[in-house]
Amino acid sequence: MDKNRAWDLLNEISFVRVAGTKEELKAANILKKAAEAAGAEAVIEDFEIEEATISEATLEVLEPEYCRYPVIGIGKTKNTKKEGVVGGFKYLENVKEANLADIKDKIVLMQGRVRPDMMKKIAEKGALGYIMIGGDFYEEESIKNELRPSNAFGKDNPLPGLRIHIDNAEKLVRSNPTKVRMVFRNRNKKGTSHNVIATIPGTDLKDEVIAFSAHYDSVPYSKGSWDNGTGSVSIMELLHYFIQNRPRRTLKFIWCGSEEIGLVGSRKYCEKHKDELDKYIFNINFDMTGVTLGYEFVCCSCSEDTLHAIQYVADLENYALSTELGTYSSDSSSFAGAGVPACTFARLNPRGGAQIHNHHDNMDHLDPDSFMITINFVAKFADQIANAPVNPIPRRFAESVQKKMDEMKKFMGRDEKKDKDKKDKKDKDAKPEKKEKDK
Ligand SMILES: [Zn+2]
Repeated sequence: MDKNRAWDLLNEISFVRVAGTKEELKAANILKKAAEAAGAEAVIEDFEIEEATISEATLEVLEPEYCRYPVIGIGKTKNTKKEGVVGGFKYLENVKEANLADIKDKIVLMQGRVRPDMMKKIAEKGALGYIMIGGDFYEEESIKNELRPSNAFGKDNPLPGLRIHIDNAEKLVRSNPTKVRMVFRNRNKKGTSHNVIATIPGTDLKDEVIAFSAHYDSVPYSKGSWDNGTGSVSIMELLHYFIQNRPRRTLKFIWCGSEEIGLVGSRKYCEKHKDELDKYIFNINFDMTGVTLGYEFVCCSCSEDTLHAIQYVADLENYALSTELGTYSSDSSSFAGAGVPACTFARLNPRGGAQIHNHHDNMDHLDPDSFMITINFVAKFADQIANAPVNPIPRRFAESVQKKMDEMKKFMGRDEKKDKDKKDKKDKDAKPEKKEKDK
């Protein structure tokens, strides 16, 4: 492995590469070429994405004193009429019954994570729309203008949604609005995104597969050097390593597009390849490594045994690793959700350290030596799995992981059991219809 080669590639893909854009495709082609240059066969798989295009998002206080606030719209929420909706105002600190008693015909200001079931509750109580708080009081002005576009989870969202910077949210609350108007208009636009896949066929246990993955897309405003140029380049270095050290098992290297809009690339990959996934014994995902000031971390969506095995090898290698059993908001969750034991490696920052999802995510706080810490360990660890006579990764999930995966599906509006029950009922009631599908 070669830290300078890795560093050069990281520089080369450090540009804004948002899901479905030509810059994302440009990055895909750079990665494909690099994988081929390393000596592997690589392909690009296209998939469809559906993004919200927002044509209008405004928030005005009409009474007692007129004021217009800068906001952005939350994609895939319900459109208002052209002239918008007008109503009262309530700051909903949390979704507790006591707070919901008087929200009828009001536009509500909310904070934190809002699950689809909460949204439904608010709509049932008669709210007209909602405004989410984003940003940070203490960030610099240039970042305050970079409110990150987002989409609501789930389908058929019952209310229109806006996002406001926390500075303005405070002003809004203090102005005690009595009459507020919001306008929100969006429509879904289809686009194309891409996964890049390189394969190293195994020498003799080729029917068993280890999948390395990393997303290569970024959010708007961000060059995504840390998130996740570093992960993308990490698996490229592992590809180089395993070309030189041919493994017994087959290895897949998957650079996922559209992770930032809901793990879409990895989900599409798992759908497209679902018939082969029973051969996939482990997914090793990378999301953000290489910061100078940071600490090594792995989140395991697998069995406790596998977590302990990783910890054991880390101890043998004197590799200081924080571990967690659970789900991670990255592509490993798609593999785990599809039944493949998975984990995500990251080098996380201390408080006040490097940032992501704004224009500060560039090369400034990364360095080649810190970058190699994670890959050097994973190469050793993965080499053992790739060459073990018997698959050492049990195909099961710790109970706590399973519970988190179920919760996550629910959060994202994809309760598959419910979908299945619905389908079974439909099948019984009438002629069968295709199951509906959706992070
Ligand atoms: Zn990421």
